[in-house]
Amino acid sequence: MKRVPFLDLSAQYAAIREEISSSLQEVFESVSFVGGPFVESFEKDFAIFCGCGNAIGTSNGTSALWMTLLSLGIGQGDEVITVPNTFIATAEAITFSGARPVFVDAEERSHTMNPVLLEKAITPKTKAVIPVHLFGQPADMDPIMEIARRHGLLVVEDACQAHGAQYKGKSAGTIGDAGCFSFYPGKNLGAYGEAGAVVTNNPDLAEKIKILRDHGQSRKYYHQVVGWNGRMDGLQGAVLSVKLKYLPAWNEARRKNAVLYSSLLSDVEEITLPSEMDYARHVYHLYVIRTPRRNDLKSYLADSGIECGIHYPVPVHLQQAYRHFGIVKGTFPVAEKCSEEFLSLPMYPELTGEQIGYVATELRKKLRLS
Ligand SMILES: *Cc1c(COP(=O)(O)O)cnc(C)c1O
Repeated sequence: MKRVPFLDLSAQYAAIREEISSSLQEVFESVSFVGGPFVESFEKDFAIFCGCGNAIGTSNGTSALWMTLLSLGIGQGDEVITVPNTFIATAEAITFSGARPVFVDAEERSHTMNPVLLEKAITPKTKAVIPVHLFGQPADMDPIMEIARRHGLLVVEDACQAHGAQYKGKSAGTIGDAGCFSFYPGKNLGAYGEAGAVVTNNPDLAEKIKILRDHGQSRKYYHQVVGWNGRMDGLQGAVLSVKLKYLPAWNEARRKNAVLYSSLLSDVEEITLPSEMDYARHVYHLYVIRTPRRNDLKSYLADSGIECGIHYPVPVHLQQAYRHFGIVKGTFPVAEKCSEEFLSLPMYPELTGEQIGYVATELRKKLRLS
């Protein structure tokens, strides 16, 4: 039996092993373990990669979101609008800022924030919006920005799954007031541990986040505000600098894999393929199909040695963590249906055409035979 893992980080490591080793060696030799030149150098490169004025390295994507909200002055008594079909970190960051997450449903085709519903959810307490660039495809930013500006709202992009994705030619994360990235190992740009970043064209915001991530100081032991420890470490900065050079090629490989999947599955009626919207350059952090027979298919594929994922089995508003909000099932029908129908097929740059062919063949076999 063949085996197709959902994700294979060792294939990528094997290709860059020497470069990684020598860059880690440099960090060891210079004992620059937290912040310092390797982080600063990565920040500079990542800002250029995004076409953005500033990038601030952080401890992870969740802290990037949280520190951005705090630095924008969001807190107690405020409402921040986001989607329920996201990783819970988006909502956690809002909750831990002191504000209340307010959910609006996704669009049927893009699975990202529905701008019409966004406008309806705005109240006098609303301070900010966090669209999520889910699975590597940017949300429809033009109408979201237009509505936000008209109502005086801040926009923070959750670009944790969208490194290098584009919206009408602009880099994901650079359209709103700030964009937040995660470099969790499995993301399109992944560290060898925990890391994240905020990008922004607002230099004052960048300065505030830098101070907040370093115990409220810009000069050692002189603390202007009560801050936090949200810094990136030197080893991660060095690893990310090496890997950033390859990100365009890796994203291209993901796109090629997606095209192959879609061509092999386009005539299968029981499944809905992911669609790349006209405004988007999708970077396929995940390749997610929809099928009413999701659970069935997942276990059949597992029996054939194909490992799939579910992103996510429970939308945020129905998680136990947010049960006290009292939001009943049926409130967000698109997000809820997605949680029942989404199936993430194996996706990473090193996936071979043969492996994709095998996944497609097995999928077709199951749908025809039973
Ligand atoms: C990964 C992710 C995060 C959190 O990032 P961490 O680095 O794991 O803290 C936030 N939002 C989304 C959509 C993510 O996929």
